[in-house]
Amino acid sequence: MPQNIAEFTWSVDPTGYRWEPGHRLAEAAMPPGAHLWDSMVARGTVPALVSSRPNAEGPSRWYTPDSGLYRAFAELDGSEAALVDFANRYGELGGEGDEVYDRKDPWFTYHEQWEAADRTAVEGELENSGPEMPDSRRIECRAETLHGWWMEISAMRMCIDLHDMLRSAAPVARLGRHFSYRDRTVGMDDDEKSVFLFNSVAEEAQRRSALWSTEVWLRDARQPNADGVMSSPDPDDPGFYYYYQVRTYRKAEYFGFYEIRGLYTHEPDDDISEFTTTMLSAVVNAHLTTRVDTELLIDPRSGQPVLFAMPTSLIGAMWLQLAQAVDGNKDFRQCVSCRAWFELAPDKARADKLYCSQACRSRAYRTRRGRVTR
Ligand SMILES: [Zn+2]
Repeated sequence: MPQNIAEFTWSVDPTGYRWEPGHRLAEAAMPPGAHLWDSMVARGTVPALVSSRPNAEGPSRWYTPDSGLYRAFAELDGSEAALVDFANRYGELGGEGDEVYDRKDPWFTYHEQWEAADRTAVEGELENSGPEMPDSRRIECRAETLHGWWMEISAMRMCIDLHDMLRSAAPVARLGRHFSYRDRTVGMDDDEKSVFLFNSVAEEAQRRSALWSTEVWLRDARQPNADGVMSSPDPDDPGFYYYYQVRTYRKAEYFGFYEIRGLYTHEPDDDISEFTTTMLSAVVNAHLTTRVDTELLIDPRSGQPVLFAMPTSLIGAMWLQLAQAVDGNKDFRQCVSCRAWFELAPDKARADKLYCSQACRSRAYRTRRGRVTR
């Protein structure tokens, strides 16, 4: 893996963005490295982010994100206004987007009718009163939906919190409050053993008032499931196949679900921080994959090709920032003056640094002096 990160620049439409209502998710919003366990079509319509000038005429504003931008993103409250404000500053997320139905698509109408029928149906009657299924193929259509933004924020929030806990003085004690155990079965399917449930907000009472919360089930997938995909090819394999089921909530309201699969090489018995590290990596990887390219670029000094990682979107760049922070054990602090997150230099002399820049330090100094002389 390359150690070099190419400088990333991203464009913002200076005329701004807005949420356009009336889109319909064809598939639950999820990261590119995840799978769906079942088809889960979001109910109702969702807003999608659109540029104020859809034909992209006129100049864009280009910028390079600060290395702490991912933290600002993870602090968004998820309201439409806050997200538009973020987009107006930093542009669209620019990832693969979410699959939505076009309004002109007969499938859009079909799902709308289904929901209407569902609302009015008496139990058992639904079969007869359901609408007729279109015989056309769905019109491929992607957009950045409000749910897609929520899913990224909520996952990033959880990963930052996990990493902060792992780096704290007593990670095992702190992490332990977020886990509940084990060998429990969830839902109706008793074949699949759940190893644990992780909750990003520890206490039930706090979860009800938390802005974001995420549940992660580790399901033991040694037993083959219906499609046989998860059965282990090697019965003597010391590891086991797992899948993380990630459920995301905003203000205690469930909005998203996805699944990450992998091979776990330890029994998850002793070290909870080791376990958490694996989970954190799996979630970060799912959000990074396909969003960062690797390319050989010619170093102008040596004339030699050098391998670089290059984010292909703002969302990819922010997940790469998080991955780098995990990799380098980086410290971030919020500027006392402008509230931007900035990276603390590893040397100790800087540990008490309060401002992101000389400009912010000077501004704060002037404000203080103004207060004294007034
Ligand atoms: Zn500042």
